[in-house]
Amino acid sequence: MTDFSTSSFEMRPPRFEAVSISQWQSWHWQHQNRLRSAADFDGVCQLSDGERAAFDKGADRFRVAVTPHYAALMARSGDCPIRRQAVPHLDELKIQSFERSDPLAEEEHMPVPGLTHRYPDRALLYVSHHCPVYCRHCTRKRKVSNPTTAASMAQVEAGIGYISETPEIRDVIISGGDPLTLSDARLDHILGRLREIAHLDVIRLGTRNPVTLPQRVTDELAALLRRHAPIYVNTHFNHPAEFCRESADALKRLVTAGCVVGNQMVLLKGINDEAKIVMSLNRGLLRHGCRPYYILQCDMAQGITHFRTPLATGLEIMDHLRGRIGGVGVPDFVVDLPGGGGKVELLPDYIVDRRSSEHGEVVRFRNFDGEEFDFVDVAPP
Ligand SMILES: *Cc1c(COP(=O)(O)O)cnc(C)c1O
Ligand code: SF4
Repeated sequence: MTDFSTSSFEMRPPRFEAVSISQWQSWHWQHQNRLRSAADFDGVCQLSDGERAAFDKGADRFRVAVTPHYAALMARSGDCPIRRQAVPHLDELKIQSFERSDPLAEEEHMPVPGLTHRYPDRALLYVSHHCPVYCRHCTRKRKVSNPTTAASMAQVEAGIGYISETPEIRDVIISGGDPLTLSDARLDHILGRLREIAHLDVIRLGTRNPVTLPQRVTDELAALLRRHAPIYVNTHFNHPAEFCRESADALKRLVTAGCVVGNQMVLLKGINDEAKIVMSLNRGLLRHGCRPYYILQCDMAQGITHFRTPLATGLEIMDHLRGRIGGVGVPDFVVDLPGGGGKVELLPDYIVDRRSSEHGEVVRFRNFDGEEFDFVDVAPP
């Protein structure tokens, strides 16, 4: 298992043997040298016949791109949590009747193009449809990676205009795709425009760059974020194998820049659907100033059902975490309801019995260890 002290450069596969450390640590180089075809994986890992076929048949459906950095974290052979998230699989081509291309009805809740306003006080602003790595489990496959739907500057301006005219919005989530695919100048402009809006309390940035392209989090970017502090950054680590020195450095720069950093893990079958994996993920994140925020149930999006776990799996993980790691390491387990119902939290049931007594109802709880305790409730007013 990798850890935060090893550099991905030291783990680089034979394909990148001749690359210099300064190339490797340049996000431009990483971006330009992304793996896109089956042939690009020669000297990286041994693709199965199924994976090769998935490249041939599925490439037009959801593009493939993997940064050399992320590829370096992959096992050279065999099953691997990094590879499963980044290399296409034939199961992506199976479309089932209950799946939806827009599972969260984000397009329906758009008062202006490129902005979803579903909750009273929050809005999602899509500023880019590109990502350094296209996660095979992406819930926004319908538009992410599709160059014909990229958010234009005019559209982003219209979204910001809507936010400034809608005082109920207190919290904006800059999303995409990945907003860190924008240039520093463009990001600075968007953050500056949002900061001018007096009714905003919270500006958030949703980005997977600390995982997939941590080199993007440069000192310049950190300085920029500091100018607009506090920015709430939610990133997307799914497995401890994604930890390395570069991702630790990226988190440190964000934290030092006054960002409030959180993690949104997506629960994925065969990747992180075991309590001990989530436990070590969360412990590692906490060590680097990143608070586990959500465990997200995998959505009903098209072609990702092979990643989904039963709801019971998430509940078992939550049951294991509570009591065994401090509260800062226990995220909320949420299901984003299909059709735009919003997120609801699921919790294990800690109440085992209720009975009445002369003093009030006696509620019998179990704790994380299975021991039982009676709590005398007061009568409602
Ligand atoms: C997830 C989401 C948010 C943010 O939800 P939080 O629970 O506040 O993190 C806001 N708007 C939409 C449309 C969302 O899907
Ligand atoms: S980084 Fe986020 S938006 Fe981009 S492909 Fe991955 S899950 Fe989708």
